[in-house]
Amino acid sequence: MQLPKSRRRQKLREKKCQYPGCGKIFFGIHISKYCPEHRQDRYRIRKRTKPEDVNIKNQTFKHNYTEVITMVLDCKLEGCDNQFEVKIYPRQYIYPKYCPEHRNEYKRVRHLRQIGREDLIEQMIKESEMMEIEPMAAREKETEKDIEAVDDVA
Ligand SMILES: [Zn+2]
Ligand SMILES: [Zn+2]
Repeated sequence: MQLPKSRRRQKLREKKCQYPGCGKIFFGIHISKYCPEHRQDRYRIRKRTKPEDVNIKNQTFKHNYTEVITMVLDCKLEGCDNQFEVKIYPRQYIYPKYCPEHRNEYKRVRHLRQIGREDLIEQMIKESEMMEIEPMAAREKETEKDIEAVDDVA
């Protein structure tokens, strides 16, 4: 049996971490996007999900503000009229979707049950299952193609 002569080597180069708010310089291969810290699994939850999944507990709010402003938003939960204040930051587009009370899934379920929308509860639970972090082992099988696909989302 012959052993492979050499493993494919990739040149390390100076890269800037793409994780929001990081920007640390590190050495990595051409597909590396994140510094060692942000390559850890706990930072991958959002990056692994599809764009619509990011919007389960949060909403995307596109804006051009260059200063921090305070806005009043409506709770997006069916049948809730609460409003809440949110600080809008420049270049940050993900904001809470629900009033402080309904950021808790248990309370959203209870509210939906009270207004008789069991159908929405089912839908919500299905969505939150998609948010689960994938097991560690899955990462090792990751191919370059996977990484690229993930980056489309971020
Ligand atoms: Zn980083
Ligand atoms: Zn609410």
